[in-house]
Amino acid sequence: MIRFTISDIRLPKMTKYIFVTGGVTSSLGKGIVASSIGVLLQSRGLKVTIQKFDPYINVDPGTLNPYEHGECYVTDDGAETDLDLGHYERFLNISTSQANNVTTGRVYQTVISKEREGAYLGKTVQVIPHITDEIKRCILQLGSSGDYDVIITELGGTVGDIESLPYVESVRQLKWELGSTNAIVVHLTLIPYLSTAKELKTKPTQHSVKELSRNGLTPDLLVCRTDRKLGRDMCSKLARFCNVDQNSVIEAIDAATIYDVPILLQEQQIEQIILAKLRLSSLQKSDISEWKAFLKKLKNPDTHIEIGLVGKYIELQDAYKSILESFIHAGARLRCRVSIRPIHSEDLDQENTTEKLAGLHGILVAPGFGNRGVEGKIAAIRYVRENKIPFFGICLGMQCAVIEFARNVMGLSTAHSREMEPETAYPIIDMMEEQKNITTKGGTMRLGAYDCDLVAGSKIQKAYGSTSIQERHRHRYELNNQFLEQIESAGLSATGTNPQSGLVEAVELEDHPWFVGVQFHPEFKSRVTKPHPLFVAFVKAAMNFKSNGSEVRKNQEQY
Ligand code: GLN
Repeated sequence: MIRFTISDIRLPKMTKYIFVTGGVTSSLGKGIVASSIGVLLQSRGLKVTIQKFDPYINVDPGTLNPYEHGECYVTDDGAETDLDLGHYERFLNISTSQANNVTTGRVYQTVISKEREGAYLGKTVQVIPHITDEIKRCILQLGSSGDYDVIITELGGTVGDIESLPYVESVRQLKWELGSTNAIVVHLTLIPYLSTAKELKTKPTQHSVKELSRNGLTPDLLVCRTDRKLGRDMCSKLARFCNVDQNSVIEAIDAATIYDVPILLQEQQIEQIILAKLRLSSLQKSDISEWKAFLKKLKNPDTHIEIGLVGKYIELQDAYKSILESFIHAGARLRCRVSIRPIHSEDLDQENTTEKLAGLHGILVAPGFGNRGVEGKIAAIRYVRENKIPFFGICLGMQCAVIEFARNVMGLSTAHSREMEPETAYPIIDMMEEQKNITTKGGTMRLGAYDCDLVAGSKIQKAYGSTSIQERHRHRYELNNQFLEQIESAGLSATGTNPQSGLVEAVELEDHPWFVGVQFHPEFKSRVTKPHPLFVAFVKAAMNFKSNGSEVRKNQEQY
């Protein structure tokens, strides 16, 4: 007879769920709070991922105007996602995928196609249970892989919005099904200060918690955004009226940088509170020394440079979120404060580049779509190429560098991208045949991670320290290989190539301190504790440029 002891029985590992909801107003930083909680749980040795549910009807944010929704973040598997996924990846040093971002549009799309296939056997398809069941399936999908100890789910929108209701209901059902030690709710809210009354006010928070309770959900933790200390009395008042434990009222005071947030939350023992509620015990001691080392460097720079960011969405910082964060990571690594001067590409032309770019130590020309502002980008590139100022071009930025080179060095004065000028005689940037065929099927972009081989000894190869890399893409057009020989013999080298398709992924000028353009988006792979090598190399080049005493204006006299 076989005898079992308790220790022989292997219980399936239960994935724990943390739901992050938001109350009172949007833009409270749910993504940063969710990411910070993730960092703290990771520091205990737990495997964590984060997913976001967005309550809009678009199937994904790929078609949303950056003015509406900020940057569209791209994952390795080619999903076009919400920019909060960028925070998740940067904070947790993880890679996310399509499964990490679900929208109401996607949920409905799935349910409606199932209905068309007859999957509901003639039943009336309704928000409850069909939409909520699909939401629940999506929420549990990553957890069912068994790869994670904890899944954090951020619910977009604000509690009380009509669109949020099916999500709140799904979380209510899941909490009940999984049990209160396997699923908890963290509610992020705002405690405003009324200057006339000289008082912090809890009423909006009470109302938003009441709204949650009306839908059958009570928060396990309350994270309160505030611009000043809450104090014990305020916390006990909030606890009493919002039905949470007193130690579960956490203050999220305005921080100097988003990277302070994990530390500020840890000081209030948020991770111990969460671990206790989820019955996760005997874990390793928290280790966030790498994070703290990053913060120390970030806050104590030895030097300072200024980089010009040339783009057409510069009024909205969120449009270039990942690029801005990548500079923070790279700057901290090099103990250099990187200030960014946003420069609207539409304001630039041949005549005013000297004035507009004065004092800069490097210029990054941003990604983008469409004709608007392209000539300004090209003017900026001509200026930095001729004046040997460090240049970094990303996606459209790289394409503009090739156009500029074709026009002003190769003498093809009307060279252009087919995207901007369909009838151009010199389509130096063009849509590839294979891509045109894909267009008819609807998927028009090259999206997600592709391999890239680098030329040994090139600037880009030295930056990576490797000859084969993988980077993420989001574009339709490519450098036209029919012109490649001509481009290379005129002095712009293709130093990165896709080994499968032969498409050019990176170009650089040899006779220049640092002039690199990449067809891919390196900014999506920069991490707090692992800055991206290309951003590090570019910042280094700008630091050298500065220390050689050659800021833009001085340089101008030389050439
Ligand atoms: N508009 C260009 C293309 O589609 C570049 C896109 C980008 O910068 N992401 O190829």
